[in-house]
Amino acid sequence: MNERCTIEKSEVTAGKACPECSTAMRCGRTTLHFERAGFCADVENVNAMLCGRCGMRSIPGKTALKISDAVERLFRAGKDFDMTGISFRKLAS
Ligand SMILES: [Zn+2]
Repeated sequence: MNERCTIEKSEVTAGKACPECSTAMRCGRTTLHFERAGFCADVENVNAMLCGRCGMRSIPGKTALKISDAVERLFRAGKDFDMTGISFRKLAS
């Protein structure tokens, strides 16, 4: 898999300073955790800017929007079924 950071420069410039501690942030992957109405969802391997010092994460706007939209749909669908959850993930290639 290509580990090169794919975050668009127009959204988040590489080496952007952390808003919490001003350390230069680096490109990496993170897992986002969402909880809503008794359900939780984890989105793994999200491209993000990470701060190695305080752990602050910054997700580019476009990516964050896409993820929250997808998770929102899952939560909405999950509500209507008598089940405990959905696990949805891309298989490791
Ligand atoms: Zn920081």
